[in-house]
Amino acid sequence: MADHPLITLDDLDLSGKRVLVRVDFNVPVRDGTIGDDTRIRATLNTLHRILRGGGRLILLSHLGRPEEGHFDETFSLRPVADHLADLLKRKVVLCRDWQEQGLPGGEDIVMLENVRFLKGEKADDEALAKQLAGLCDIFVNDAFATAHRAQASTHGVARFAPVACAGPLLVNEIRALSAAFEHPARPLAAIVGGAKVSTKLTVLESLITNVDQLIVGGGIANTFLAAAGYNVGKSLFESDLLPEAKKLLAEADRQGKHIPLPVDVVCARDFKEDAEVSTRPVDDVQDDDLILDIGPETIRTYTDVLHKAATIIWNGPVGVFEFPSCSRGTRAVTEAVSNSPAFSVAGGGDTIAAISRFGSANRISYISTGGGAFLEFLEGKTLPAVAVLEEAARAWQQGAQRE
Ligand code: AMP
Repeated sequence: MADHPLITLDDLDLSGKRVLVRVDFNVPVRDGTIGDDTRIRATLNTLHRILRGGGRLILLSHLGRPEEGHFDETFSLRPVADHLADLLKRKVVLCRDWQEQGLPGGEDIVMLENVRFLKGEKADDEALAKQLAGLCDIFVNDAFATAHRAQASTHGVARFAPVACAGPLLVNEIRALSAAFEHPARPLAAIVGGAKVSTKLTVLESLITNVDQLIVGGGIANTFLAAAGYNVGKSLFESDLLPEAKKLLAEADRQGKHIPLPVDVVCARDFKEDAEVSTRPVDDVQDDDLILDIGPETIRTYTDVLHKAATIIWNGPVGVFEFPSCSRGTRAVTEAVSNSPAFSVAGGGDTIAAISRFGSANRISYISTGGGAFLEFLEGKTLPAVAVLEEAARAWQQGAQRE
């Protein structure tokens, strides 16, 4: 990964070291019970590896969006600490007052209470970053999903820690995204769907120059249809972004990367699971229709593109896949990506939910844990939490050369 120099755990002697790991334990918690522990399980290899290497583990994570500066039981990492203790079969001490009292002594694993309770986290406050850095000999960032945020626990701490390295999950993310996007086997096809139209249109602007073929679904497709002059009725689309969408369609054509728009769509009158749906040509959408999925003709065009691709990047379902009557398009895309020999990378919460509903995550080459971070990487933006690790690696390499 010449473009992304990183210090990794393989480069370091962990024995006897205090190792502060920024993990992503932002799991769904309801009434003290964890709904889905995938994110916790995903870190187990990293944690075992540090423990095997003789490091003393200190864990750092956020959970939800509490108000900064206040403790709020609802957002406590207590259930996460207890669950992790069960998984590791080790005691995990949850530590809330470390700023006043310091860390407990002994060999137990320490988990700092939700970092978003601390004033200064969001603003990447230097004093807080230094306090966090002061807790460790080695800082490890293994939370790719937060890498697009410059905060004290993702960015600032890495500036001041004696050593700042990338954890195995983060390294894998950068490797996969870099292979798919920076050095792709061609043709490279991207599928962008879902509901976050304004964020994703910005991503498309930079995606269009890099990809060979772009497929759109969901609110993005509706916005493009409206920009192309079709009636989209009451469908989800961004009327403010029509000029932007028109420009993008023209730019894609100019670059010889025509974006195929849906030719048939699945419509309903209400946004309800049991609403009656009808499939119709795209020029037959009525004023009170909602476009909720792509039709069979469009599915054929889209899957054809995917069958020819050597690399596929996917973010966002092409329809309201949560409703069985509107799930055909997303199911077909999932199957096409899963059955393709192409190197495929998918990211975003709903995309992953669709994959586990209609296919098998094992058949996608790489499932990114990042939603926002994944999109910002595709946009070609620098992820602050990765950039700071790259700087640390460059400084480390220069230091090694001088010695
Ligand atoms: P995102 O977070 O941007 O990937 O959006 C995911 C959500 O987009 C899912 O919950 C889908 O139900 C929704 N979605 C996909 N297509 C449509 C559509 N045509 N109209 C409304 N919502 C949609």
